Amino acid sequence: MLAPGGTIGIIGGGQLGRMTALAAARLGYRTHAFASEQDGPAAQVCTAATIAAYDDTAALDRFAGLVDVATVEFENIPAAAAARVAVSKPVMPRPEILEIAQDRLREKDFLRGIGVATTGYREVSSAAALRRALGELGKVPGRRAVLKSARMGYDGKGQVAVDAGTEADAAWRLMGAPRGILEGFVDFRCEVSVIVARGADGAAVAYPAVENRHANHILDTTIAPASLPPETAREAEAIARDIATRLDLVGVLAVEMFVTRDGKLLVNELAPRPHNSGHWTIDACATSQFEQLVRAICGLPLGSTERHSDAVMKNLIGDEVETWCDAVAEPTARLHLYGKRTTRAGRKMGHVTRLLPRG
Ligand code: AMP
Repeated sequence: MLAPGGTIGIIGGGQLGRMTALAAARLGYRTHAFASEQDGPAAQVCTAATIAAYDDTAALDRFAGLVDVATVEFENIPAAAAARVAVSKPVMPRPEILEIAQDRLREKDFLRGIGVATTGYREVSSAAALRRALGELGKVPGRRAVLKSARMGYDGKGQVAVDAGTEADAAWRLMGAPRGILEGFVDFRCEVSVIVARGADGAAVAYPAVENRHANHILDTTIAPASLPPETAREAEAIARDIATRLDLVGVLAVEMFVTRDGKLLVNELAPRPHNSGHWTIDACATSQFEQLVRAICGLPLGSTERHSDAVMKNLIGDEVETWCDAVAEPTARLHLYGKRTTRAGRKMGHVTRLLPRG
């Protein structure tokens, strides 16, 4: 166990690292961020920061020497950086889990391998392979699909909507990566996610499934809890716990799922870290997802996931951040700003959680 007073290393410099550091500080831990940019959201609130490139092995070794345990705030941090730190200090979740979550094909193969339902998919590694796959799509009812880059994909980056009439070369160029995954388009009823925290002793706790609404492929609003038939909510939670166990994860895992029109659950994506759809837990639950991560990696007992309120979390994306002054004046709203100096379209600048009486 790492007792309060110890130092948690956070690889990555964004808002997830920032909120993890704030939760760690409340429990008396020190934090050290490893980030590629000065003055980022995490470095602003950590006790210390190393600013260096993720392939700077000397800097990674120095960082490892200054921390007791480390975690990764975002799964697209190069797995090699986490693996380097893991040579000398425990890194949780283990870098192999990052490697699975960084690659949509590996992720879907893993899910299929453990019997978890996903949308139909196939690997495509060239425009010619895409042309063949699109030809076969012609036989599929609806004929719609989504071409995604296998790696570095999040928030809809590297995604192209296609159908049997799509020109393969153009779609391949638009996707812009050497390896892709062609997924069947899911005409879903809604999108949900479940966040699970799991300790080194195998104990796991889950938050209720929440509904996620996206705008331009970026999470816009999370409604907690999701309005689902109780058996579907239970099944979503059981799937997420099962995946965390099969990954032998220590930390926090978000499992994003589609609920199909006939009520089935298909897993779309895994994120082995605190997730945007769990930000509501800071203000509405006994223990936030960030505190659970700190507890899990320090070997403390996991906290209660009990919620005292229902909640609606709204991301402040790009210029929406300018509404912060309205949110801060609302009695039941909790404003979180990430300290980003430059506002850009599509950039997550903060969020607001509005608390509602528990239903
Ligand atoms: P992702 O980057 O995979 O999380 O995708 C971002 C968003 O695009 C998802 O949350 C969905 O709203 C949409 N999307 C992704 N894949 C599919 C799919 N196979 N069918 C329908 N919508 C999708």
